[in-house]
Amino acid sequence: MSFNTLGLEEELLKAVSKQGYTEPSPIQAKCIPVVLEGKDVLASAQTGTGKTAGFTLPILQILSKGPQLRKRPIRSLILTPTRELAAQILENVQAYSSFLDIESMVIFGGVNQNPQVTKLKRGVDILVATPGRLLDLHNQKHLSLANVEILVLDEADRMLDMGFLRDIKRVLALIPKKRQTLLFSATFSKEIKKLAQDFLINPVSIEATPENTTAELVKQKAFRVDKGQKTKLIIKLISEGNWSQVLVFTRTKHGANRLSEKMVKGGITASAIHGNKSQGARTKALAGFKAGSIRVLVATDIAARGLDIPLLPHVINFELPNVPEDYVHRIGRTGRAGASGEALSLVSADEVDYVIGIERLLGETLKTDIIEGFEPSNAPSEKADKPQQRGNQNWKNKSRGNRNRSSSGGDNSSRKRPSGGNSSSGKRIKFKRN
Ligand code: AMP
Repeated sequence: MSFNTLGLEEELLKAVSKQGYTEPSPIQAKCIPVVLEGKDVLASAQTGTGKTAGFTLPILQILSKGPQLRKRPIRSLILTPTRELAAQILENVQAYSSFLDIESMVIFGGVNQNPQVTKLKRGVDILVATPGRLLDLHNQKHLSLANVEILVLDEADRMLDMGFLRDIKRVLALIPKKRQTLLFSATFSKEIKKLAQDFLINPVSIEATPENTTAELVKQKAFRVDKGQKTKLIIKLISEGNWSQVLVFTRTKHGANRLSEKMVKGGITASAIHGNKSQGARTKALAGFKAGSIRVLVATDIAARGLDIPLLPHVINFELPNVPEDYVHRIGRTGRAGASGEALSLVSADEVDYVIGIERLLGETLKTDIIEGFEPSNAPSEKADKPQQRGNQNWKNKSRGNRNRSSSGGDNSSRKRPSGGNSSSGKRIKFKRN
């Protein structure tokens, strides 16, 4: 299928081709015509499916065809959970609107509001925002949402996870009822369904039909190791593998800081990215990582959500997430847009129950291995020469024995996903780029 068949104008086709996209991703093929028709959309899609272009391209077309007012009022609002995602969406909006007379900008907290206020005064057609700063600037009367025609709620599940439900409702109350609303979510909990029921009108449901599962694109492997040996092992893997761009996940912000400091001491350039870091520090770390001056980015789940780092070759779970869906999101950072990648997990004895949860969600077992010199103290005594054969067996045996114990080492974040999350977030799609 080609972009030409979707009803997009020449200026947008030119922008898409400038990006090197040769064919639309499944979510784009489904979403673009429906949005162009002016319908509400309820879409199941996560980052990595091409959903941003799926909603941005038709929005740009609708806005560019509408009346051009001299003092540009905000006509489309894109609400997102994190600053990084907001910044990335703006980058996309600007790339896709490079041949159109459309002004766009992003606002988020954690940075001085004055430059944002100055820019708002000049007028924007499309505003990308996180809920807190948006409401803050609205309360200070620096912006009006009274002319919004198209609203996008992006990563709605994550916004609810992060406690933004009340803010979202406040924002919705400031936007005209007569509007087009597009809701994107990786999972569909009761809360998301209720939100859709309350604020969308006869939405068209869209799902990105998965062509490839995670496993087909991403080589996954787990190494059993004692908790106290993980830092040494990860430094060895990265150094000896000579890996230049590695995204590492920890469960806690504190853990992310500690690990990145130890990496630096071990001679590997690293930086941590999490919610306690200033926006400046986060932007700098991400830019350094993308540019290659920082080899390792150590991140927590929330900070990493939505990061778009194309063709990331390695993702390492320094600690497994206690929410199985987060494993899928994490490894979705590698093998983006059809390229293959490698996702490694360092698993200590206290994390065995997490492995079981992840395997259940994926519907497959994780290949396990033991590295010489890093044999876990609870491992069977034979040599680690046939690791695969005994690895998975061990998870299960160990887990049964552990069931009554607290399932973590105690440094676990207590974040829980809403119930009813669907496992389709485990699927990824493949699409082509030149
Ligand atoms: P998203 O899911 O919107 O975050 O997009 C994920 C990545 O896919 C981004 O790097 C996009 O630039 C890229 N992308 C989006 N649409 C296409 C396409 N049709 N072909 C190739 N790459 C794409």
